[in-house]
Amino acid sequence: MALNFNVQWIHGAANCAASTDPRIQTHALDPDTFVLRESKCLSFEAPFLYLLAGSQRAFLLDTGARPESGPLPVRETVTRLLSGRNLDHVAGHSHSHGDHLFADEQFRGRPRTRVAPVDSPAAIRAFYGLSGWPDGSASLDLGGRKLTIFPIPGHEPHHIAVFDQRTGILLTGDVLYPGMLTVRTADWGEYKKSAKRLADFANANPVAHVLGAHIEMTKTPKVAFPLGTRFQPNEHVLQLGKQHVIELNQVCESLGPTPVRTVRDDFILTPQ
Ligand SMILES: [Zn+2]
Repeated sequence: MALNFNVQWIHGAANCAASTDPRIQTHALDPDTFVLRESKCLSFEAPFLYLLAGSQRAFLLDTGARPESGPLPVRETVTRLLSGRNLDHVAGHSHSHGDHLFADEQFRGRPRTRVAPVDSPAAIRAFYGLSGWPDGSASLDLGGRKLTIFPIPGHEPHHIAVFDQRTGILLTGDVLYPGMLTVRTADWGEYKKSAKRLADFANANPVAHVLGAHIEMTKTPKVAFPLGTRFQPNEHVLQLGKQHVIELNQVCESLGPTPVRTVRDDFILTPQ
């Protein structure tokens, strides 16, 4: 079944006080695959969260950024999207930065729900049954829907990628998305290896869409919005492709032992 990317994401407002946007927008790529976007009026990070359902369990990747005011209804959104289904839940994280795990507490103690650890490679490895870290992978069976999980540290030491065999979606968190891909110089070696790991994976698997955790590029190639903006009219589409995974690896391989800011049409490698 083709995925439905025909969506206008909420993208903040010039005047957030007058905005009628939902706190979290939801969009179904297919009947079992949901993308959630947090409002830019609540957090300039405006992260994307992913909810994938199989016949036995559902997997949520990330729980959002702290809203500047009011609640962030992640749990009730997930419950609403999957109402009427008899599922266990796994709440995982792309990585441990604060704009990806704010609503974790909403899921602790929730019936039939396990929340993945976030800040220990050993604990993450044990939780998913990864065969190694960072060179290893795990399979998570949602019931008729298998996910492949593998480490991609570098942007942050506990980062993972998630590939959905049913849809061909590769979830890349903050390692690859249409925006400013940040990496500290000290982590450059790890980051390069992860870019290679992603490219090798994409060359060996039917990756159809690459979905990250943010949008920071405009529709104009090479041009990003100013960091921290609350309003992103004409923002880049969310979805990238296999070619971007290959491109990121080529950029990394072309650079030496020190990362250099590199502007491409759809992302900007940004050393910090
Ligand atoms: Zn991050």
